[in-house]
Amino acid sequence: MSDWITAFERRPVQVVDRLAVDGLAPGIHRLALELIEDATGTPVRIPLLVVRGAGAGPMVGLTAAVHGNELNGIPTIHRLVKRLDPAAMRGTVVGATIVNVPGFLRYDRLFPDERDLNRIFPGKPAGNESDVYAHRLVERLIAPLDYLLDLHTASFGRVNSYYVRADMNDEVTAKVARTLGAEIIVHNEGADGTLRACAAEHCIAALTVEIGDPQVIDRGKVKESRVGLRDALEALDVVDADAETAPRRAVECQRSYWLYTDTGGILDVLPGLAEAVEAGEPIAHLLDPWGHKVRTYRAPEAGVVVGRSTNPVASTGARILHLGIRAPS
Ligand SMILES: [Zn+2]
Repeated sequence: MSDWITAFERRPVQVVDRLAVDGLAPGIHRLALELIEDATGTPVRIPLLVVRGAGAGPMVGLTAAVHGNELNGIPTIHRLVKRLDPAAMRGTVVGATIVNVPGFLRYDRLFPDERDLNRIFPGKPAGNESDVYAHRLVERLIAPLDYLLDLHTASFGRVNSYYVRADMNDEVTAKVARTLGAEIIVHNEGADGTLRACAAEHCIAALTVEIGDPQVIDRGKVKESRVGLRDALEALDVVDADAETAPRRAVECQRSYWLYTDTGGILDVLPGLAEAVEAGEPIAHLLDPWGHKVRTYRAPEAGVVVGRSTNPVASTGARILHLGIRAPS
């Protein structure tokens, strides 16, 4: 090996066909969960980091890259787990670092059959590729959990603030949401077919955590979410408090919606992430290819910027900005 390459020891990985933590000794375990086989007959395996605490407590699941190009959750789990001490823990933390393995390999949000996994949960025991993958994921990994934090980012051409989607009418879920140090919390009961809604049907307290933009690792946002997730584990009494505390700053929104362009052009979105906007304030300009301004879009009501487009190429119906509407305080 060339001298500019430093190689490190590879740790052993245990292949499993379902999450069963009772047989695991307290400590950190590296597992590979088999779900399906690809066309070469090679098993497709989800990498799991399981931290089994010495004491009794809940099972907390963290899932990343359900959308295969949403990557910030992966180092968030790595860095969170590295700081856990199993001997001082109550319960188990299960980090599934890459849920949509085939999509991850293709730098793609979707599953290779072009379906969005996060719209088809709980899947089907016998169906097409994505249906079976979703179904086995729920049966083999999600069902035993008590809590689920599903880590996402924005889609291609957009960026999200560090924000949480949660059912704020559920006391437990709301409590966890408020510990995460997010910039914004959006109340949302969970759309049909999402992993969060599916988990909630299994009586698992589930939240979606949005961390920045796709296909990148954003160190700043990863740190924010890692500290926030640690605080959530503290609130669930899985770990004792450490020195770092996430800020308690979240703007709580009772609803949110996207604003779209009504014609095509070159889009320039004005406010930044997590910024407050007033009703009537300009939020975007749209230019034609000759530089003539064809539209100014204004905020229809006061709110906060949950996410925004980063892609200036805007056909009719392009997303402009995700506007959150504050809950009455
Ligand atoms: Zn996503």
